[in-house]
Amino acid sequence: MTDQRIYNFNAGPAALPLSVLEEIQASFLNFKNSGMSIIEISHRSSYFDEVINDAVVRAKRLLKLDDRYHVLFLQGGASLQFAMIPMNLLSDGDTADYINTGTWSTKAIAEAQKMGKTIRVAASSEDKNFSYIPKGIAFNPDAKFVHLTSNNTIKGTQFYDFPDTGGIPIIADMSSDIFSRPLDMEKFGLIYAGAQKNLGPSGTCMVIIRKDLLATANEDLPTMLKYSTHANKNSMYNTPPCFGIYTIDLVLKWIEEEMGGIEGMEEHNIKKADILYDFIDASSFYQTTAEKYSRSLMNVTFRLPSETLEKVFVERATNHGLGGLKGHRSVGGCRASIYNAATMESMYALVEFMESFEKENKS
Ligand SMILES: *Cc1c(COP(=O)(O)O)cnc(C)c1O
Repeated sequence: MTDQRIYNFNAGPAALPLSVLEEIQASFLNFKNSGMSIIEISHRSSYFDEVINDAVVRAKRLLKLDDRYHVLFLQGGASLQFAMIPMNLLSDGDTADYINTGTWSTKAIAEAQKMGKTIRVAASSEDKNFSYIPKGIAFNPDAKFVHLTSNNTIKGTQFYDFPDTGGIPIIADMSSDIFSRPLDMEKFGLIYAGAQKNLGPSGTCMVIIRKDLLATANEDLPTMLKYSTHANKNSMYNTPPCFGIYTIDLVLKWIEEEMGGIEGMEEHNIKKADILYDFIDASSFYQTTAEKYSRSLMNVTFRLPSETLEKVFVERATNHGLGGLKGHRSVGGCRASIYNAATMESMYALVEFMESFEKENKS
């Protein structure tokens, strides 16, 4: 079975560590000798309690979070957070700064405006099709928070350093780079991530929220849309996405026990991205689309000399067992998504294929 698996460069849902998938498979029919599958167990059972608590503890340990933070598992994907954040955290008279670095930031901004909230776009890289990360941004000192997308999955850019906001808490959509590198948590008031890029199956969104920010949240909202509902019930106000949380726990365990923690994970990710970027930079056939000092370690976007060649490239790659290399239509070209679970072996396989494709098709 495992020898039929491809090198998976999908943007999301994306590749997960093989050892995690194997562990899920091995324990699927009889979870911890319960005689039941993880998807058949009550979320009120001690079996599941152990899973969710373990996932929270591991997340806190990896990111060095203290008791000022709640770790929540919500539904509705990252996209629901685009609405929940302004609904919960902006009251009448409040304002927030948003940085627009791509498709997902644009959606987050549109959603905040739809809620009738007063927000300001403090910086944008739309002038160059979001190919760079804006620097030297002047923030509104009265902003309640600064919202940004740490890694732009579609455009292939990433914040290396987070802006100095003068103490205003940053709210970050980290859907496509959470747990890929250490973070200075002092800067963040809220972090959220849809699971399907770096954490597990789709359908679960991890939300890390600082309690002082939560304390200011609007309470006059539908029960399911209030952070406090979920924080007060350890994410189990209603039936949580049990399978997703279980997988996330195993992925976090994998980072801790097999990848050398978050520092080891970062080292691994830099090595992987370097293999690909070094190869592309040395080639006159392939070209990256993002500005060099904003290039993402998670999503490598690149072009070939023509759209016709790009089409052939993606087709041939697929036939070679290299999947998911087609770029998003808003950028065109190709994209290799190389999240935490992408292996070194997959990087060598990709570069080897790119090298031979270049030789065959260079005019
Ligand atoms: C994929 C993605 C989203 C959307 O996530 P959903 O879980 O599908 O709502 C949002 N932001 C970023 C940065 C993403 O990569």
